[in-house]
Amino acid sequence: MNEKVAAARYAALSWKELGVARRVQLLRRFVEIFALRKEEFAQLTSKEMGMPIAESRADVQGALAYFSWYLDNAEKYLSPTVSLEGEGEVHTVYHEPYGVAAVIVPWNFPASNFVWGCGQNLIAGNTVVFKISEEVPLCGQMIEKMMQEAAVPAGVFHEVYGRGPVGALLSRQGVDLICFTGSTLTGASLYRSAAAGMHRVVMELGGSAPGIVCEDADLSVAIPSIYSARFDNAGQACDALKRLLVHESVWDPVVEMLVGRLEMVRLGDPLSEGTTMGPLVSKQQVDLLERQVADAVERGAIVIKGGKHPALPGAYYEPTLLSNITSDMRVWKEEVFGPVLPLVRFSTEEEAIALANDTEYGLGGYIYTRGMARAERMASRLETGMVSVNGVNYTRPMNPFGGYKHSGIGREHGAWGFADVTQTKVVARRK
Ligand code: NAD
Repeated sequence: MNEKVAAARYAALSWKELGVARRVQLLRRFVEIFALRKEEFAQLTSKEMGMPIAESRADVQGALAYFSWYLDNAEKYLSPTVSLEGEGEVHTVYHEPYGVAAVIVPWNFPASNFVWGCGQNLIAGNTVVFKISEEVPLCGQMIEKMMQEAAVPAGVFHEVYGRGPVGALLSRQGVDLICFTGSTLTGASLYRSAAAGMHRVVMELGGSAPGIVCEDADLSVAIPSIYSARFDNAGQACDALKRLLVHESVWDPVVEMLVGRLEMVRLGDPLSEGTTMGPLVSKQQVDLLERQVADAVERGAIVIKGGKHPALPGAYYEPTLLSNITSDMRVWKEEVFGPVLPLVRFSTEEEAIALANDTEYGLGGYIYTRGMARAERMASRLETGMVSVNGVNYTRPMNPFGGYKHSGIGREHGAWGFADVTQTKVVARRK
């Protein structure tokens, strides 16, 4: 590891001095190679972490689109800007790289985790030492090989492999910037070690996004959106809709329609085209989910649907709906990283907002209503970095992605993503 960080340090100055246009040119070659091998990467994703193949393909396609957007827009966001001109003076603001970035990511979207963590860093001129999750090392290896094939200069991109302690060690190697995607617990420990060296961090952490179904919601729009926001990738997404708040007047149809939707799920082999939900990433994740559901049931929750292993070998869990939820339950207080949705009734907008914000997390939020004034009012009161109204997807390369409260520090994508991986310098001079 020492050698990789040293090589990244050695390459940092020449990578910075290459300039944005040349870096963009070199990295475009990487994106071209990735695009040629996208099916291979999608297959590897499904094999390593169990995502159904159609979703793996979408992950790779999305990641390529994000990288391309960063490349197409880099000059716009990274070029110097004149902040003051007149009276014989000109003041110019430059965006300069930090130097060496440690980028540590999880396993849930291998292509996107890599691109979101590393893309803007590399374009902005940081060299990267990348640690992918121990759950998907072969995806990591393929990324490393494609970087070599693209002839990205030596030292600019390296990978280290292993479990948590490898990431902890990497964060203590005197890197200049730590970009972490993963759980809030791990993020907090990395934040402490960054503080010792006054290092900059970007943290994309856990979430427990609320979904609010108002009495005037169009359920034909809301139900497919709720399903996808909670159950895609077997519920293993940071900003998945993890707690559903339902107005009492539409409780019965919402429950009935969700049960109907879950009956259409086809659990099975992630490589088989007909599968709509694969296994969880590991047996440990299933064990954790079982403990969270058992805790809820002991405290009085009702299992509306699912709640157990299906009769399939592997780390599968049935898509599950729970009701009779109270705020002392683990499924309410903790992040639930699997296909389990707790449902809670509310009667007033006030109550819905209070329930939605009753969490340490603040990543995403989902509102379903026909009233746009109400949607705006509720969105402004949600303590989250991102809000979706009636299923419109906020995840776009030009939008800031990130959370309030314990869901993170900083943002990825767009102008904000470039800003968070660079430092600004103002140069003031006479004309
Ligand atoms: P995790 O925190 O256990 O691991 C993430 C990465 O950090 C892995 O590479 C792991 O090896 C490494 N790691 C573990 N312990 C470490 C330590 N002490 N020091 C340094 N590195 C360490 O998270 P996970 O279970 O792999 O991923 C799921 C979590 O990631 C969920 O909480 C999810 O919400 C979050 N996530 C957040 C976003 C986002 O953008 N906000 C995106 C995807 C996932």
